[in-house]
Amino acid sequence: MSWEPVIGLEIHVHLKTRTKMFCRCPVLYVETPNTQTCPVCLAHPGALPVPNEKAVEWTILLGHALGCEVPDRAIFHRKNYFYPDNPKGYQISQYDSPLCVNGRFVVPGPDGDAVVGIERAHLEEDAAKTIHVGGAEGRIHGADRSLIDFNRAGTPLVEIVSAPDIRSADDAKRFLQLLRQTVVELGISDAEMEKGSLRFDVNVSVRPAGTDELRTRTELKNMNSFNFAAKGIEREVRRQIEIYESGGQVEQETLHFGSESAPPLRSKEEAQDYRYFPEPDLVPLEPDRDLVERLRTKLPEAPAARIRRLEQEVGFALAEGLVTSGRDELYSRIPGERAAVANVVMNELAATGVDPARVNAEELAKVIERRTEIPRSAFTDALAASGSPDFSADRYLAEAAIVDVSELDPVIERILSENESQAEAYRGGKEGLLGFFVGQVMKETGGKANPKVVSDRLREKLEA
Ligand SMILES: [Zn+2]
Repeated sequence: MSWEPVIGLEIHVHLKTRTKMFCRCPVLYVETPNTQTCPVCLAHPGALPVPNEKAVEWTILLGHALGCEVPDRAIFHRKNYFYPDNPKGYQISQYDSPLCVNGRFVVPGPDGDAVVGIERAHLEEDAAKTIHVGGAEGRIHGADRSLIDFNRAGTPLVEIVSAPDIRSADDAKRFLQLLRQTVVELGISDAEMEKGSLRFDVNVSVRPAGTDELRTRTELKNMNSFNFAAKGIEREVRRQIEIYESGGQVEQETLHFGSESAPPLRSKEEAQDYRYFPEPDLVPLEPDRDLVERLRTKLPEAPAARIRRLEQEVGFALAEGLVTSGRDELYSRIPGERAAVANVVMNELAATGVDPARVNAEELAKVIERRTEIPRSAFTDALAASGSPDFSADRYLAEAAIVDVSELDPVIERILSENESQAEAYRGGKEGLLGFFVGQVMKETGGKANPKVVSDRLREKLEA
């Protein structure tokens, strides 16, 4: 029997609003612990929440980017659970009336689009941060003690829940990369996984291909790397198939990956365990329809559309890489042969760590155009310098001194005649000696010759 993976994702995105979700404390992650707090986010009795208007707007904007509907009315609910990082005993979240519903997100792949349904995108507050000290790094078990930092308590989070429409680990990774880039381009989150401003859980089950049978799913929680997620999904799919094929049953299970777990012990909880009820301290949200429409017009061109457009020029893999790394804007600014420009931008330039937004595109184009004529070191130096305001291609291209074979030939001939025995050995089959000759010529020309031209010309001369 052939099996089909059924994958759904839940993504938490931290909004980079200036202040927290229900109070005016600043959202700052670098400050000393427990300095960005007030009675509201410390859960003092009687403190009243006031929703952050910007967070609501940004969630609607994101909802548009995910192809969601924005209902006339959304309600904040209390999600009740106990955990030390949640002293209120509940989290203000959204339950059956979220801000955004019924979306559709297109994920381009090499063999066509995957269309992933978005069940909902809702707004909620984050819990405080628990830091486990001692024992194994960051682990709860074996820790000597746990500390709590309330700076994060009450910061705005959007939770996005996809339909279980994803059919492969690759598509899951693509979905996440594209979603991350979308969020970054909307300017609503840093979406940095190292900082935890983008976190996600994955639900995985398998079913006989071609059926819509529902089977037990497992949850991979707190994933913080796309590659890690893809590998985790592949491994989990394989594990479940093996269980079914040997006649067993998959157990419902939660597999934790990150060090944090809030709320914990979630393995078998159901919605009813949280006893959701409408937050009595907040009125329902009724987004202004003009605002909702105005936000729709603010959407930039979707990353998926740009991938399809660039694919025509450089093929799918490079197009996807450029767009999901946010480098396609720079790529588009650099004139010249498209595949060459794309490769340099994606690989060599990315390796230098130069900020793409600062690159002088016209000057860099000159260097890329003549990259095979200049020494490798001059090329990488030029890339590294391309982000500085006074970057000029001429300085680096001037080093392209000895590319002309007429200048190179006398040097090569002299070196061959000075090393007769090695030349004989080469002709006798010791082809590894070519490197020796290239080295000699490079030394003689002060490293200014192009190694590729040198070795081609040397081979010609030696085999003449
Ligand atoms: Zn506060």
